[in-house]
Amino acid sequence: MKREKMEYKLKKALDHQRYEHTLGVEETARAMARVFGEDEEKAALAGLLHDCAKCMPLSQMVKAAKHAGVDEMMKESKALMHAVAGMCLAQEIYGVEDEAVLSAIRWHTTGRADMTRLEKIIYLADMIEPNRKPFPGLDVLRSLCMTDLDGAMHAALRMSLEHVRTQGKTLHPDTLAALNAYEPQPEG
Ligand code: FE
Ligand code: FE
Repeated sequence: MKREKMEYKLKKALDHQRYEHTLGVEETARAMARVFGEDEEKAALAGLLHDCAKCMPLSQMVKAAKHAGVDEMMKESKALMHAVAGMCLAQEIYGVEDEAVLSAIRWHTTGRADMTRLEKIIYLADMIEPNRKPFPGLDVLRSLCMTDLDGAMHAALRMSLEHVRTQGKTLHPDTLAALNAYEPQPEG
């Protein structure tokens, strides 16, 4: 699908703020891809589409993701569901065939153990894009994101953990697996 058509569809599917966020993630993902030797076009495309399902009702997200294998915990959470639904819509509505791009969309909210470089870039770009409301540690995270992907993943996952805790919610098992995976290894 042509870029203009994608933008047109996205603008209709998202509210203004979410659309601006999307463009911020696209630019940030592209910049990070350049730094870490990842494919810039794939990063930009995944960034552009990562939240394409974010503004729909939960019931529609669940419907959109019905072939994707979602667990009960996800079905009750827009925060979790929009990533899986987004992957499905990216494929079915936006015509994305690239598995690497689709999986970067799929894992952008929970993370997981053994993430690909592109998955890490989208997960992180989502947190640090320029339109993000400032949160404690954002500046440190931003600089880590340009120097040390795994270190940045660790820091970002700790922040998500805190965020989920303060909301009194349960951490999804995939995020727990990611946390364990990116825990810094003791030296020696
Ligand atoms: Fe998202
Ligand atoms: Fe996002």
